[in-house]
Amino acid sequence: MRTGVFAFVHAGKQARFRRMAAMAAALVLVVSLFGCATDRPSKRYEQVFLDVFDTVTTVILYDTNESRANERFNELHTLLQKYHRLYDIYHTYEGLNNLATVNEQAGKAPVAVDARILDLVDYAKEMDTLTDGRMNIAMGRVLDLWLQYREAGLNDPDQAALPPMAELETANADANLENIVVDRTAGTLYLVDTKTQLDVGAIGKGYAAQKITEAMQQSGVTSMLLSIGGNVCSIGTHADGTPWQVGIQDPYSDGNLCAVQVSGQSVVTSGTYERFYTVDGKRYHHIIDPQTLLPSTYYDSVTVISDDSALADALTTGLFCLPLTQGQALVASLDGVEAFWVLPDGTTAQSDGFSAYLVQ
Ligand code: ADP
Ligand code: MG
Repeated sequence: MRTGVFAFVHAGKQARFRRMAAMAAALVLVVSLFGCATDRPSKRYEQVFLDVFDTVTTVILYDTNESRANERFNELHTLLQKYHRLYDIYHTYEGLNNLATVNEQAGKAPVAVDARILDLVDYAKEMDTLTDGRMNIAMGRVLDLWLQYREAGLNDPDQAALPPMAELETANADANLENIVVDRTAGTLYLVDTKTQLDVGAIGKGYAAQKITEAMQQSGVTSMLLSIGGNVCSIGTHADGTPWQVGIQDPYSDGNLCAVQVSGQSVVTSGTYERFYTVDGKRYHHIIDPQTLLPSTYYDSVTVISDDSALADALTTGLFCLPLTQGQALVASLDGVEAFWVLPDGTTAQSDGFSAYLVQ
């Protein structure tokens, strides 16, 4: 009996506790729902920047109100400008040692640089190895020769010419990674040979996009799509939970060939249609095969999806210069990396997991 009464009282207490707990939980739920209604980043904001990485940068993000969104855009723009100046090989800036300074000082002296330059160069060296030498940032002189001939050819199409092979070979003679000395203790970068020049066009945007996206995530952004000239990074999804859709351009028209949907991944495409000039009716584009010193002829575009935009950017260029079977084996060996190739005859190839991202 006592036990029974006790049991009853106990049970009653338990019931009361349960009711109170349920009410408290409901209250927490109401408070958090109310909180969500005002604090949830549910409004869409868009911004375009034209002054970084010589391309168009677009950002879409969801936030609670315009002034907070503008703070985010300012934070992002400051980071974009910082990385742009550090990785710029064409201009120097007052009070800053950047990659242009390092190129200028080739064969003369080590240059004290920001750690973000050393990080990029170390990563690019890893990517060179991963791509079997196809993505080589030490090829600056070869790439500069192509750039000069392309610009001359675009300015005066009748006189458009190819860089002579002898000149390309001379320019390539010192395109060795061993000539790039990263000294972490001294915080310096040194090109030991006057003739070695860096060009980070294949990887700088993706590396910066990755670091900037991580920084925005750390400062609390939960929903963002950043495209630096088509090098796309995403955080989360749209505010309503739908994934971001990214179109993959048809190399032969202005439209898209297909689209992929991502939530948190990066999508990067390199294509022959991006930068090219014409000599004797034939197109010459901007991705140069280190083995032939000529524009690579395997594909018209390569797209890579990965959690890491630096990896995706390095791979698009590297894969561009690798035969399909070798490229497919490389992609298959990398966790979470998918790729899509458009071959010059218009046919396509894709890695095993690519179709999971395709918008049907
Ligand atoms: P984009 O910058 O046009 O999106 P990529 O990421 O493929 O395309 O980079 C192309 C740029 O990289 C070229 O303009 C050139 O500066 C540089 N580049 C071209 N070929 C190579 C290569 N094989 N290795 C390293 N850099 C390259
Ligand atoms: Mg690239």
